[in-house]
Amino acid sequence: MRIDSLLTAATQKLQQAGSPSSRRDAEVLLCHVLGVGRAWLYTWGDRQVDEFVQARFDDLIVARVAGEPVAYLTGEREFWGLSLDTSSATLIPRPDTETLVEVALEKAREVGEAPKRLLDLGTGTGAIALAFASEYPGWQVVGVDLNETAVLLARNNAKKNAIVNVEFLVSDWFSALGRDSADSGFALIVSNPPYLADDDPHLSEGDVRFEPHSALVAAEQGLADLRYLVQGARQYLAGNGWLLLEHGMQQGAAVRQALSDAGFVDVASYQDLGSRERVSLGRWQPCP
Ligand code: GLN
Repeated sequence: MRIDSLLTAATQKLQQAGSPSSRRDAEVLLCHVLGVGRAWLYTWGDRQVDEFVQARFDDLIVARVAGEPVAYLTGEREFWGLSLDTSSATLIPRPDTETLVEVALEKAREVGEAPKRLLDLGTGTGAIALAFASEYPGWQVVGVDLNETAVLLARNNAKKNAIVNVEFLVSDWFSALGRDSADSGFALIVSNPPYLADDDPHLSEGDVRFEPHSALVAAEQGLADLRYLVQGARQYLAGNGWLLLEHGMQQGAAVRQALSDAGFVDVASYQDLGSRERVSLGRWQPCP
């Protein structure tokens, strides 16, 4: 079958299944099977593909029709210009999280001279840690995750993108970090923790259905881990270090409250491009 006809047929199947981005998904999946970029498909639309390619593509379309995320089918997703391997052990990196990266970069500029350290809690694919490390090669970045598969994936993503100023550790939040010495004194601590309530309707929609529940859902209407990180981070921040947390668009006030109650100062929230509060932060000022 010709490439253009193959794409048209697959797009129709995906459309019938209610996929909102059917043409794009079909193209990305065919590119994956052929090992080419999207521009290539347009240039060579009249080329025939062999049966083997067609069979592999058909299998991917069947899986996509069943709802499987494109990023799990291709095993990769772009984030902050980096190509990251994905797996069903972790969340798929989202464009939303670029807001957190932007705020972290802004705070890093204020914090001043390297060498400084950043800690990313619940790093998953390593997206935030790697994006930051790629922008600040003079900083030392540490990413932790409870899930060993995620840690292996993140290490592999560092290698794949030739980022060397980062290390990834298996850790239940702060548990693997030493209390004093080298593991305290982070100038920045960042996290995109689980923050959905267990009855959030998003959990039964789209890609989220296939992502690990443990990376999405937290107790206390989604606030439990955010609150835990606010409490815990104080011990690991340098004086005047910042804690930056991604959260849901209705959680800004609760996260600011938790930060203020825990003694953080300069507490504020940042909006994403859609004017929704999605990141809150505070500065840690230990008692004199
Ligand atoms: N923003 C994600 C979603 O709505 C949730 C990610 C998270 O819990 N950290 O799908």
